Amino acid sequence: MNEKVRCLIIGSGPAGYTAAIYASRANLSPVLYEGMEPGGQLTTTTEVENFPGYPTGITGPELMEDLRKQAERFGADIRFGAATSTDLSSIPYKVVIDGEKTIEADTIIISTGATAKYLGLADEKKYAGSGVSACATCDGFFYRKKVVAVVGGGDTACEEAVYLANLASKVFVIVRKKKLRASKIMQERMLTNPKIDVLFEHETLGLTGDGVVQGADLIKRKGQEDEQKIHIDIDGFFLAIGHKPNSDIFKPWIDTDEVGYIKTIPGTPRTNLKGIFAAGDVADPHYRQAITAAGTGCQAAIEAERYLSENNF
Ligand code: NDP
Repeated sequence: MNEKVRCLIIGSGPAGYTAAIYASRANLSPVLYEGMEPGGQLTTTTEVENFPGYPTGITGPELMEDLRKQAERFGADIRFGAATSTDLSSIPYKVVIDGEKTIEADTIIISTGATAKYLGLADEKKYAGSGVSACATCDGFFYRKKVVAVVGGGDTACEEAVYLANLASKVFVIVRKKKLRASKIMQERMLTNPKIDVLFEHETLGLTGDGVVQGADLIKRKGQEDEQKIHIDIDGFFLAIGHKPNSDIFKPWIDTDEVGYIKTIPGTPRTNLKGIFAAGDVADPHYRQAITAAGTGCQAAIEAERYLSENNF
């Protein structure tokens, strides 16, 4: 049987939970489905030191737990379950949860986040949180005066390498092709930095270390006659090979860019559909921070409240 709700929030990172705090305080009786990874990407990090309000830092899972409890305190209905398909062709919008139950909603806040891409090496899982990271801004601080490697040749890799070079003593950048994909200005910034050593035509075979990352085995010109294996000593291994926004189930109705990020009207969380708002990393190719996600979650809830009252729902 279908269930009807006023405000449906899909996804449970900082954007979703913040939207739930605001929406429940505005008496929208929000229902939030947590998705496959309750708490989102931050639950895979350890210490979060840049979320305002925590002068001594907090772990990612604790921060998410606090946000969830804060939303529940005001009555948000937070549930296990993931949205598996949608029909946004008419109002009320319809969202299927776990392939079974259909929720009809007057307004929807999409906060399904993005997933960092990994190389697929077993060692990435083995050293997760112990030297492997997909976010230099989040974890770079822990590598002050240490040696790190960044994988990737796009703008993110260049930006993260330059950011890390301000903290670390040395940064290797591991690029699989002969050239970078990044914009000229980003390339220049990276290539002229004396602390950064770019290893073109290198791929990562595996990571080494006793409990924490201490090195990486690389291969140069894999499959060619002059193929060559090398080892580098590093303390941190940062992936910067792109993110995949979790927007697939909305794509038939909601406008996205070529990568899949939901397009919003600049400065707002409004999508191309009335009453549907996008917050957090699913709509943010640029900042991808917990605090910016929380900020847009707040905006989305305020927009949802205005939309409902202006349209007499
Ligand atoms: P991109 O898709 O632009 O680049 C990904 C990079 O990772 C490429 O160099 C790619 O290599 C490499 N890569 C992908 N898969 C693998 C793999 N399995 N092994 C090794 N290398 C791999 O992603 P970005 O995150 O860099 O950028 C996303 C978007 O955001 C872009 O449009 C970018 O311009 C924008 N952006 C802009 C910034 C700015 O302007 N300040 C900052 C950050 C991002 P290959 O080239 O061989 O395919």
